[in-house]
Amino acid sequence: MSAKIIDGKAMATAIRMKLGADVSGFKEKPGLAVILVGDDPASQIYVRNKIKACESVGIKSFESRLPGQVTEAEVAAEIKAFNDNPTVHGILLQLPLPAHLNSHRLTQAIAPEKDVDGLTVTNAGKLFLGMDDGLIPCTPQGSMILIRSFVRELAGLNAVVIGRSNLFGKPMAQLLLRENCTVTTAHSRTKNLDDVCAQADILVAAVGRPRLVKQDWIKRGACVIDVGINRDADGKLCGDVDYEGALSVAGAITPVPGGVGPMTIACLLSNTVKAYQFKRASGSQAA
Ligand code: NAP
Repeated sequence: MSAKIIDGKAMATAIRMKLGADVSGFKEKPGLAVILVGDDPASQIYVRNKIKACESVGIKSFESRLPGQVTEAEVAAEIKAFNDNPTVHGILLQLPLPAHLNSHRLTQAIAPEKDVDGLTVTNAGKLFLGMDDGLIPCTPQGSMILIRSFVRELAGLNAVVIGRSNLFGKPMAQLLLRENCTVTTAHSRTKNLDDVCAQADILVAAVGRPRLVKQDWIKRGACVIDVGINRDADGKLCGDVDYEGALSVAGAITPVPGGVGPMTIACLLSNTVKAYQFKRASGSQAA
């Protein structure tokens, strides 16, 4: 048996084409503001890719680059200016921030209706309560689309998510629960992680440890979503799953690169369009 490779790149391209067609019919263009603090090389690449992706679908991008020594009050003022700008529909604060800045406080300063990363208390709470008028974090949202492309009926399946970050693990678990999966969230204190994973019909790894998940941790036929982006000892890009080993056991697996990563960007664009549409709908109700 050889696992189906879930092609995140192709699925992301399809989403982007649909968004591009939708946006071309809008009177006003949606706008996404990206705030980058400092000169972390990886963050610079992520921001550049996000801005290019915006342009490709007709979303107007606003880029704010702040020096690494900026004060928290200055970043907060930048966020407030974008909160108040009616042509900006989404705001993304690129993480991680330099250590002297409080990421939680600054993230919470983003207006919830513009919080395209879905990290504010309002959006996290809406996801927790099962409300569908919130903005869902991009990577779990994209991962869910990838899972659905392979698993038709999710109800009653065992899903294991390794990782419990606010950005990924917790919202991913909520999305799977919403689909009536029986969800286990594993983390660094989980005992017998291999046995826990072996129960999973859907196994999602978001740890940040190269090839942590071994072939014999995977249930035959499972859907494996590899969120991790790592460099191995040879400097090669790899995920959290032993991809080569998993191929002969899993039913389907996402590659790294070309799996979850492109879907994250597609869902960022989709969230920006959603935020734009929410604003238009609330404006027309008020009129
Ligand atoms: P994070 O905040 O560092 O969280 C990592 C999680 O893994 C934590 O919950 C941690 O447990 C758990 N963990 C660490 N070592 C473990 C071990 N040996 N066994 C079991 N669990 C362990 O990371 P994140 O932001 O969620 O990201 C995770 C990975 O996904 C990273 O590689 C990141 O680059 C990647 N990522 C990719 C995308 C994409 O678009 N493809 C987007 C976001 C993140 P504790 O809570 O107990 O410490």
